[in-house]
Amino acid sequence: MAEIFFSIPDLRIFSYSTTIACGVLLWIFEGINPCFSLQKRRNLHAKLNMSMAALNLLILLPSAILMAFILEWSRNAWPGIGMLALPPVAKAVLIILLIDLWMYVWHRLNHETAFLWRFHSVHHSDPTLDVTTSWRFHFLEILISELLRLPLFMLVGAGIEHLLLYSLFMTPVIEFHHSNISIPPALDRLARLIIPSPMMHRLHHSRLRSEHDSNYGSMLSLWDRLFGSFMMRDNLDDLRLGLDHESEPDKQQLFALLQRPFRP
Ligand SMILES: [Zn+2]
Ligand SMILES: [Zn+2]
Repeated sequence: MAEIFFSIPDLRIFSYSTTIACGVLLWIFEGINPCFSLQKRRNLHAKLNMSMAALNLLILLPSAILMAFILEWSRNAWPGIGMLALPPVAKAVLIILLIDLWMYVWHRLNHETAFLWRFHSVHHSDPTLDVTTSWRFHFLEILISELLRLPLFMLVGAGIEHLLLYSLFMTPVIEFHHSNISIPPALDRLARLIIPSPMMHRLHHSRLRSEHDSNYGSMLSLWDRLFGSFMMRDNLDDLRLGLDHESEPDKQQLFALLQRPFRP
């Protein structure tokens, strides 16, 4: 079964190395030229978020292998978009757009459903924002997401190569819009025409519910504009990040974050 997961080695290696390279570069640049003053104990903050990422990788590897196997098996039985008389590139673009649309819907559901918010709030409980926040998710949020998206991916005929291609484009965008890198406002405005920009996603991490229930896009900002969830304001200097009553040091520990969805 694992051969399917590890097939297409070039694309897999390219996708993973791009993720690591972008993450490291953004970490260096936001250290040299931060948009907002550097948080105290930056390394400790990164250590916590990266421990969550490492734990997720360890716990979720078997489910990723199983998912690759199911998608491959299902595509042989039902090609989905593969049946359309389109060039392979057009089919891949269509599938990638549909995956990104699903990511938008999924993210919005996480904010609009009390049960899902329990898990997603772990991501929002980060009192500061930098590239490492893009890796801070509760493993159960990812697991539920995988379970729900599997039938949809089977329906459209998505294969492991489409997921890898999507990850190749989406992950650097997610790392970029979480980063604390300082870019000229005009460049941020230009970027948000296509992708969720750092300022756009920073507003999504506001403590105010009226602000954090907006800007759900992962790779493209198109969906927020299309479905009326796009929000922006000129000055974010007064923005308070995170969640009320979640910034205390005892709440910003690995075990406390893993327990958070089960707290009353
Ligand atoms: Zn969110
Ligand atoms: Zn985020």
